[in-house]
Amino acid sequence: MFTLPQLGYEFDALEPHIDAKTMEIHHDKHHGAYVEKLNAALAKYPKLQSKTIEQLLSGIKDVPEDIRTAVQNNGGGHHNHTLFWESMKPGGGQNVPEAIHKTFGNLDDFKDKMTEAAIGRFGSGWAWLVKSRNNLEVYSTANQDSPLMEGKTPILGLDVWEHAYYLKYQNRRPDYVEAWWQIVNWNVVSERLS
Ligand code: MN
Repeated sequence: MFTLPQLGYEFDALEPHIDAKTMEIHHDKHHGAYVEKLNAALAKYPKLQSKTIEQLLSGIKDVPEDIRTAVQNNGGGHHNHTLFWESMKPGGGQNVPEAIHKTFGNLDDFKDKMTEAAIGRFGSGWAWLVKSRNNLEVYSTANQDSPLMEGKTPILGLDVWEHAYYLKYQNRRPDYVEAWWQIVNWNVVSERLS
């Protein structure tokens, strides 16, 4: 059984960048539903229930066909959101990893690249900083697809589903993305890279 992780901060902790109501619905209802549906999909396969979410997603091709899409969507949703909550903190973090400077030249160039991926993702999905073999890459995925399904390790993910920003930003996804940079927890990003 997978469980909905608690947020490490209050719903209103990321104000004014992300409003409390959005955080509450996003965490309790959206993420909650992914966890519930993931458990429901796994109910008839007891053997799969002992696997970690990382194992399920990186081995998605081995998941029985009748529940594969459900695990992809809801397992992806569970893992992506868990990472997302941990990647944010009030006031952000200062410890930008050296690897970002090394790969992208400087922090602003990295932000531009990730912002472009976030704004350019048509419809619902995620923008990612991932580790692929030994390189850092920026790209985006559709829906709740996890980089783990392609053998990449997610380091930092930005949710660009409308449910992540619509209450406060309506159609202004670029404004949401710009605000999000203020609350990125670089300390966690650095930890994931080491
Ligand atoms: Mn979401």
